[in-house]
Amino acid sequence: MSSFATVCVHAGSEPDAVTGAVVPPISLATTFAQASLGNLCGVDSPNSIGRGFEYSRTGNPTRGAFERAIAACEQGAYGLAFASGLAATNAIMSCLATHDEVICIDDVYGGTQRMFRQICAPNCGIKFTFMDFSDVSAVAAAVTSKTKLIWVESPTNPTLKISDIKALAAVARGGGQDIWLVVDNTFMSPYLQTPLDLGAHVVLHSVTKYIGGHSDVVMGALVVNDEEIFKKIRFVQNACGAVPSPFDCYLALRGLKTLHVRMDYAQKNALAIATFLEAHAKVERVVYPGLPSHPQYELAKTQAKGPGAMITFFIRGGIEEAGTFLKSLRLFTLAESLGAVESLAESPAVMTHASVPREVRATLGISDNLIRLSIGIEAIEDLLQDLAQALSV
Ligand SMILES: *Cc1c(COP(=O)(O)O)cnc(C)c1O
Repeated sequence: MSSFATVCVHAGSEPDAVTGAVVPPISLATTFAQASLGNLCGVDSPNSIGRGFEYSRTGNPTRGAFERAIAACEQGAYGLAFASGLAATNAIMSCLATHDEVICIDDVYGGTQRMFRQICAPNCGIKFTFMDFSDVSAVAAAVTSKTKLIWVESPTNPTLKISDIKALAAVARGGGQDIWLVVDNTFMSPYLQTPLDLGAHVVLHSVTKYIGGHSDVVMGALVVNDEEIFKKIRFVQNACGAVPSPFDCYLALRGLKTLHVRMDYAQKNALAIATFLEAHAKVERVVYPGLPSHPQYELAKTQAKGPGAMITFFIRGGIEEAGTFLKSLRLFTLAESLGAVESLAESPAVMTHASVPREVRATLGISDNLIRLSIGIEAIEDLLQDLAQALSV
C-alpha cells in the first residue's frame, strides 16, 4: 500500500478478525476483561506498543483503528487521537516544563494563540516568541538553549502564509539540541502535505476540519515517527485524558476514507473561485497559494501537492462592505470552521480571530475587509453565481 488513495481507504480498516466486518465496530466498552492477572486481551498496536486493552481512556479499539489510519496517511509510525485539535495542542504543551521556550509563527490559529498567551505563558511559565517565519535565519537566531518547540502552520490561518518546513526542520535538528518542530497541518490535510517527510517531529490536525470533513465531529490528532516523542505524548494522552469518544473516532475514520476525493473536488472549485475573485472589480486582493500572485507560489509547489481549498480575499471597503457581502450570500453559510463538504464564509476580524488583540491583528494584516472562504464540493456554477450576486449588492 503506497498510494495515498489506497492507504486512506484501507489503513485501520482491516476486516475484523472475529466477524469479518469490513468497518471497525464502534467499541463502547469502558473496560476490558483480562485473561489472567496482567494478561490483557487484544493488541492495540502500535499505540500501546504491543499491549492489549484494559481501560478505554488508555486504549480503545475504535480509537486505535483511527490512530493507525491517520499515522499511515501522514507517513508516520504513531498516531494519537484527542478530543479536539486544541486538546492535541495541549498534550504537546503538557510535555514542556516551566521556563521552557517556544518559537511560534506570528499568525498561528486564534485558539492556539489564546492557549499560548493566556494559559501556557501565565500559568505554566512557558516563554513564547511569536515571529514571522518567512526569514528562516531569523528563526534560527531566535533559538536559545531553552528552546523546546518550533511551532508552525503552513499555510497560516487566515493569511495563508507559507513557511519552508524543510528549512525549519534543519533549524530544529541542527543545533544538537532536543527541539521538536511541530507542524499544524490542518489546512493542507495529509493528502496534500506530509510534514514528517520534510523533517518535522510532530504533525497536528484539527480532525474537525478536512479529515472529519462533514462538520459533524470535533476531534484532534497527532502523528510522530520518533518512539521517544511518541512515548512522552502517549503518557500525556492517558494521564491527562483528553481522548475522543469511540463514536467520534468512527466518524473520523469514515471521513478520512474520502479525504482525497473531497479535497480534489474542493481544490478544483477553489482555483476557479480564486481566479474569478482576482478579476472582480469589488475585490482588492486575493490570497490563494494556487495563484501565481501568491508571494510564496513557488515554495508552496515544492512542499505540497496542491494549494488546498481555503481562500482569503480583501473586499473593497471596510467592515460595512464585508458585512453586506456576508449577509447577501445565499449558498455559502456564514460560519466559523472550515474543511467540510459545504462552503463557508466568515470575517476573521469579527469571528475566528476576535480573541487576537486588535494591534496584533493589524500587524498580521487581518483587517476588517478580509474575508475567509472555505470552499466545499458543491457545483462550481452555483458557487460562482452566489459570489457574483453577493458582490453586486
Ligand atoms: C480549528 C483549528 C484548530 C483547533 O482545532 P479544534 O478541533 O477546533 O480544537 C487548530 N489549528 C487550526 C489550523 C485550525 O483550523
